[in-house]
Amino acid sequence: MNRSICPRCGQPAEQGLCQQCALDLAVLFRLPDLVEVTLCSVCGSRQIKGKWQLPDDRSLEELASQAAVDAIWLHEEFSEPKIEIDLRQIGATRYLAKADIKGAFRGRRVEEHCEIPVRIKLVACDRCSRMAGKYFQSTVQVRGNRARGLTQHEIEQCKSIARSMADAGYRNGDQLSFIQEMREVKGGLDIVLGSTQLGRHMARAIHERFGGRLLESCKLVGKKDGRDVYRSTLLVRLPRLKRGDIVSFRGSFFEVVGFDGKMASITSLREGRRSSLSEEVAQAVEILGNRADAKKAIVILADDDAMEILDPETFKTTLASNPRGLSVRPGVG
Ligand SMILES: [Zn+2]
Ligand SMILES: [Zn+2]
Repeated sequence: MNRSICPRCGQPAEQGLCQQCALDLAVLFRLPDLVEVTLCSVCGSRQIKGKWQLPDDRSLEELASQAAVDAIWLHEEFSEPKIEIDLRQIGATRYLAKADIKGAFRGRRVEEHCEIPVRIKLVACDRCSRMAGKYFQSTVQVRGNRARGLTQHEIEQCKSIARSMADAGYRNGDQLSFIQEMREVKGGLDIVLGSTQLGRHMARAIHERFGGRLLESCKLVGKKDGRDVYRSTLLVRLPRLKRGDIVSFRGSFFEVVGFDGKMASITSLREGRRSSLSEEVAQAVEILGNRADAKKAIVILADDDAMEILDPETFKTTLASNPRGLSVRPGVG
């Protein structure tokens, strides 16, 4: 028999420490001296493992308690661990988390109490400090053309596209997805943005919505950490035609329903026939009005093809052709 004795208690042991002493000496958990919770004082974002995360509806106390729990290291054989935290505020930005740790280790019940100081560190996150520092990487310029400027409706639509895209980018974790400024300038709108990637996406979305031309240019503005820093400008020049415009083309009336690059997609009012206009033709067609400016008119007589309406401005009767998809009855506006 090869028996030895435990160097700690002197009892017989297989080798090294006896079972009891091995249990007594095992390190079951470890704690840091201090736990820090880093928050942005401007937007409430929280920094976790070096990455900024969106604020949620957890309170400061909940965040401090969670940080204390996360900071406790447990032995891998510590089973069914249960940690309860009793948090006390001990200063403006300081808490003391009293932790009650319960569980089992190699079949033996374990219960421990410990205290973990938690400090709340308030800083400005990357995004907020860049916004405060007037940082920007790109500008989307939306402009009209020789024939017309931007309508107020188009400006509002561009602003709402910009807001929702910047917001979506931020929610997807892009810290630079923010609008530094939106300003109405002579001839259009400037949207100043935190990132070039956002600028490109936004310019493309505006171009898809309104048609026209898209032009990107960039400029070297300096160096940062040994790397060249560029700023980009994305110019979207809107075409003469807008969605909803009613145009006269080859003897029929058409409505502009969308854009495909430089081409305008149109639908004939009478048969719903789809067609498209090249940029050149679109420059020349006669614009009769826009659906958004349409007025209600009283229909006096109607048959399958045509109707007699009372002009809402002159109060004279006028003949009009029946638009497709609209059934009209006399007396109804
Ligand atoms: Zn022993
Ligand atoms: Zn922030």
